Amino acid sequence: MIDLHTHSLLSDGELTPAELARRFDVAGYTALAITDHGDQSNIDLIIPRLVTFCEEVNRLEGIRLIPGIELTHIPPEAIPALVSRSRKLGARLVVVHGETIVEPVAPRTNRMAIESSADILAHPGLITEEEVLLAKEHSVYLELTSRKGHSLTNGHVAKLAHRMGAPMILNSDAHAPGDIWPPARLHEIVAGAGLTEDDYHTLIRNAESVAKRCLI
Ligand SMILES: [Zn+2]
Ligand SMILES: [Zn+2]
Repeated sequence: MIDLHTHSLLSDGELTPAELARRFDVAGYTALAITDHGDQSNIDLIIPRLVTFCEEVNRLEGIRLIPGIELTHIPPEAIPALVSRSRKLGARLVVVHGETIVEPVAPRTNRMAIESSADILAHPGLITEEEVLLAKEHSVYLELTSRKGHSLTNGHVAKLAHRMGAPMILNSDAHAPGDIWPPARLHEIVAGAGLTEDDYHTLIRNAESVAKRCLI
């Protein structure tokens, strides 16, 4: 199992990066991206620290760690520059906090994240067909999430992405120990989004291929 969207107390998670990694390791995960909330004020603080931490841990046995960032509530026109700044600072995975229906995310965030070729568009809410096609063209993964609230639109995202052949990925958006799901629960979340067991395995393979690319 791999999770590519989690939070430590470098933003609003409850756990230090070390405890977050340890708990995912014990739960049977083989790779984990730590993607704390970032904006213009803090990416230069968060990313280099996560890079150093992940490099140190990756020298040891156990779970493989990917230093990432979740660009969150960024004015849409500022997203492209922040995606490239994040990569220059060493982020191996750039997630953009998409237009979830449970927060006032600025309209056009989904589109700008896709056009900036972020790696993952998290919880894209009521994403449009046009944006899903664009995500396919730019190879941006559309997220299904087990996170309460954000998960309300999983069915919509899954239906459009499936119909148009856009790539999907399944993440927890974990902020606390109780957000780390066992595999059986993840099967239910995928089934609940109207997808099949084959789709579940595609989601697992997609996470593996993104993790492989990030860990090189
Ligand atoms: Zn958060
Ligand atoms: Zn998040």
